[in-house]
Amino acid sequence: MTGASGVGKDTIRRAALLDLPNLFYSISATTRPQRSGEAHGKQYYFYDRTTFEKMIADDDLLEYAEYVGDYYGTPASPVKTALDNGQDVLLELELVGARQVKHTYPSAVMIFIAPPTLSELERRLRGRETDSEEKIQKRLARAREEIKAVTEFDYVVVNDTLTDAVADFSCVIRAERARAKHLTLQDITSFLQEF
Ligand code: 5GP
Repeated sequence: MTGASGVGKDTIRRAALLDLPNLFYSISATTRPQRSGEAHGKQYYFYDRTTFEKMIADDDLLEYAEYVGDYYGTPASPVKTALDNGQDVLLELELVGARQVKHTYPSAVMIFIAPPTLSELERRLRGRETDSEEKIQKRLARAREEIKAVTEFDYVVVNDTLTDAVADFSCVIRAERARAKHLTLQDITSFLQEF
């Protein structure tokens, strides 16, 4: 899932995870400062730049990108373990990282979370009171850039009313899981034997 910061990705994701079994949420690594209420290993793994750059050098990340002056990346091994265990994996990524994942995993489903309007996004970012004016402007600029890439995505969920956005997001995942192409040969054989 991709969408500007402040668009409500966290809230949608948390609600959707309650509704969807067998979905693994990958906790990202970042160098951005911890916000109040955040904990290491919960919202993010918080690292300094030296540690993060060592993870890049050691090839420990599935993807990474710089966003408004900080690194963000996906630790590779938990994702690989979850996939090996047959789980679906949910990643929350800005655009550069989302493109990297799509390149590595062409079957990845890309969902864009859009704000109802840019001014509403600005209102939400300011309401959070976590960023300086400079960072808010940079985040809004990045949001404008990301919205231009919306046609690269498979789905768009507009977060106007939260309950509708959560329902739409869960429906996308349920619909993708129901695609016949995801059936294994074993599924098809046992399915046909029933008839
Ligand atoms: P925030 O600082 O608001 O938590 O996140 C800033 C941006 O980084 C958001 O667009 C968020 O989706 C993105 N982000 C969070 N985790 C990752 C990650 O692991 N990789 C990439 N590429 N972007 C991430």
